[in-house]
Amino acid sequence: MKTIKIHANHLDLSQQIASKLKEKAENAGLTCLPLDQVSDYIITVGGDGTLLTAFHTYQDQLADSQFIGVHTGHLGFYTDWLGDEMDLLIQGILDNDEEAVSYPLLGIEVTLKGNQSLHYLALNEFILRSHRKTMVCDVAISDHFFEVFRGDGLCIATPTGSTGMNKSVGGAVLHPRVEAIQMTELASVNNRLYRSLASPIILPKDEWLTLKPADSMQGMNFSIDNRFFEDQVVEQVRLQMSQQRIHFASFRHMHYWDRVEASFIGSVNRKPSEEAGLRGIKLDL
Ligand code: NAP
Ligand code: MN
Repeated sequence: MKTIKIHANHLDLSQQIASKLKEKAENAGLTCLPLDQVSDYIITVGGDGTLLTAFHTYQDQLADSQFIGVHTGHLGFYTDWLGDEMDLLIQGILDNDEEAVSYPLLGIEVTLKGNQSLHYLALNEFILRSHRKTMVCDVAISDHFFEVFRGDGLCIATPTGSTGMNKSVGGAVLHPRVEAIQMTELASVNNRLYRSLASPIILPKDEWLTLKPADSMQGMNFSIDNRFFEDQVVEQVRLQMSQQRIHFASFRHMHYWDRVEASFIGSVNRKPSEEAGLRGIKLDL
């Protein structure tokens, strides 16, 4: 018997959809487990942020579970289903014998002053910043010195995270089949004295980045997806594409570039009805 669990955000609409989904799923013969148990499918109800929270909450279950995102706001990057499609979703789970699709994750090792190393995974990105003064940070690629970065911060994103913060700071949108991580600069200082590359760079999975903030950097902030860590004395951060991956149920296949188009371009440029109809996308216009 296939098992699911449902992780919804606090919004009334999400809670309503979650309880309707649970009832329908159980009537159809699926077992709906409590959130602290390992299930075949983890269904999130909310937005991309809800899926990010679920990813971090159930990070020890990545090998056992496939994620499915139901969106109660606008079309998300990790959320394919609408609240009124629950019958279709349940039927999809019952019939599903397809391999899940899997996407790359970012492996992060943060060493704080005093040599305490902490390991994390990111689904979207890691961002290191200094807000009190300009961040000064040595950047090495696979243990070869590359540059001294000066500016607001550095963002290292996964392919699926490339449409998040990475895109807002000028990074490229990467197809999630590209096994790579991307580093973008946040407001670098570039003049005759100080120079960093000032372009996003994309690293293959067998290369890694090491960020070493200058000794003068005291309280730094870093974020991993939607988790924030404030006022840390960071000695070093090592970042590389992880060997772990996140799995998504693949029985509703949405073309990646359609999703990018629908999210970032669609409602502005298109003649809504015909284009959306052609592509089978429901748009929130
Ligand atoms: P949030 O403030 O709600 O996130 C900002 C927006 O980014 C929301 O619209 C969120 O979608 C969307 N988003 C999240 N992951 C995305 C992805 N992979 N591709 C495209 N859009 C994405 O905070 P949150 O929901 O906790 O999400 C945290 C993430 O938001 C961060 O990892 C970062 O990538 C992104 N973010 C972006 C900026 C920026 O672009 N300037 C600023 C802050 C955070 P939902 O509304 O569906 O949640
Ligand atoms: Mn959000």
